[in-house]
Amino acid sequence: MAMAMAMRRAAALGARHILGASSSSSSGILRSRHMSVDAAAALERIRAAGLLRTQGLIGGKWIDAYDGKTIEVENPATGEILANVSCMGSRETSDAIASAHTTFYSWSKLTASERSKALRKWYDLIISNKEELALLMTLEQGKPIKEALGEVNYGASFIEYFAEEAKRIYGDIIPPTLSDRRLLVLKQPVGVVGAITPWNFPLAMITRKVGPALACGCTVVVKPSEFTPLTALAAADLALQAGIPAGALNVVMGNAPEIGDALLQSTQVRKITFTGSTAVGKKLMAGSADTVKKVSLELGGNAPCIVFDDADIDVAIKGSLAAKFRNSGQTCVCANRILVQEGIYEKFASAFIKAVQSLQVGNGLEESTSQGPLINEAAVQKVEKFIKDATSKGAHIMLGGKRHSLGMTFYEPTVVGNVSNDMLLFREEAFGPVAPLVPFKTEEDAIHMANDTNAGLAAYIFTKSIPRSWRVSEALEYGLVGVNEGLISTEVAPFGGVKQSGLGREGSKYGVDEYLELKYICMGNLN
Ligand code: ADP
Repeated sequence: MAMAMAMRRAAALGARHILGASSSSSSGILRSRHMSVDAAAALERIRAAGLLRTQGLIGGKWIDAYDGKTIEVENPATGEILANVSCMGSRETSDAIASAHTTFYSWSKLTASERSKALRKWYDLIISNKEELALLMTLEQGKPIKEALGEVNYGASFIEYFAEEAKRIYGDIIPPTLSDRRLLVLKQPVGVVGAITPWNFPLAMITRKVGPALACGCTVVVKPSEFTPLTALAAADLALQAGIPAGALNVVMGNAPEIGDALLQSTQVRKITFTGSTAVGKKLMAGSADTVKKVSLELGGNAPCIVFDDADIDVAIKGSLAAKFRNSGQTCVCANRILVQEGIYEKFASAFIKAVQSLQVGNGLEESTSQGPLINEAAVQKVEKFIKDATSKGAHIMLGGKRHSLGMTFYEPTVVGNVSNDMLLFREEAFGPVAPLVPFKTEEDAIHMANDTNAGLAAYIFTKSIPRSWRVSEALEYGLVGVNEGLISTEVAPFGGVKQSGLGREGSKYGVDEYLELKYICMGNLN
């Protein structure tokens, strides 16, 4: 594979840097004085494919911020500035909303089959550009190139799935209570959707929202994270190429509270869909009250991963490793607490530590890397704070526990033993490569500890007992449960949380409901 060769060459070149060229082109692309050769080659490849977009997309046009302001997008692995993108605010957002609102009247009138064909074309284009999109994602987000390729496939799968689902949005006919009447239920698109997305899945969190929205006939204003706007803009470019009409998909980024407020205050925006922190989610929910918008929220988790004495240890190690260390621990479904039954604790801990030691930390562009950097300095400081809190309360570091010698925001894959429920590692999401091991005695204790949180997104259990699988799965107050499996997300199953982890479900046949209104029609006097 050409990319594999490029990556090997890049890895061989190691940390060499291009010196000199340090200028800003009119397209907004910066050439840093310290652009490493591999990153520069990757960027060049993305640019050659026409996918290095730096302006917002409003009404089908690529637009600078009205005051010309830009923000830097940085490679977290190296600190290189990859690009300067438009830093937009309320005025640009209002125009994007107006454009989405106008386009709603034509896009929603198309047949499901016409919308489906455009979405399918978008899927095909994402797949045919998957290597460029994956490189872009690794550059701006830091995740290993293999995971980035996985995300492109996963992200694209939502477009494919909802292209198919567009044709299956059926209404109902209800048996009438009076013989001269016919009672019908129509499903209609809600209207303009504001979609606000985070940096940890720069493509999939967008397609999981935009796919069903467009399939239903809604139009969308997307606000990607300012840390990872480049993947979003590249995907939007492919949507335009696929024939998704100008104005059906708009992208604005920059001043997050201003953009958020413009979306919330607009009476034309009928739905807010958000993935991100619980704190911002609560603000958006409160802010939607004034205009009574439909809201779906996918917020923080605090996933327990319960390993019972009767687990297959190899399955448990593999599953918990995947559930914990994916994207260096930076996903809301990452195992945040590994609860291990006393009888298997020592055996599990030593095998788990061995497995964690094999994780390769490095620049995500190198194919051998399985752990990239954290997104920014604040993320590392949060992990440091959690570790300090745990050790001061009696936990002990079994592996890692400090910044990695690579510098930047790299952190050593870490295992912490004897964690208890008074520690931050137990109570909050660490969002980093830290696996806290928490011993427990009985199944009842495990369920109690697992549910002892306001979060309720993902949970994992490892056991060979079928009755226990059922019992515990049903007792867990979570929206998703993995049984003997650490990677469970798929476009065909409903994703979402209970309690303060969110509202609504994404993906699957249930995912379209978030973008639809029911209309009851009563036809009378038919005799
Ligand atoms: P994280 O900590 O994962 O970055 P955030 O909730 O801060 O989570 O960010 C998720 C998304 O929400 C990003 O696109 C971010 O820019 C956006 N965001 C942050 N604050 C606001 C706000 N006040 N209004 C609207 N969007 C916001």
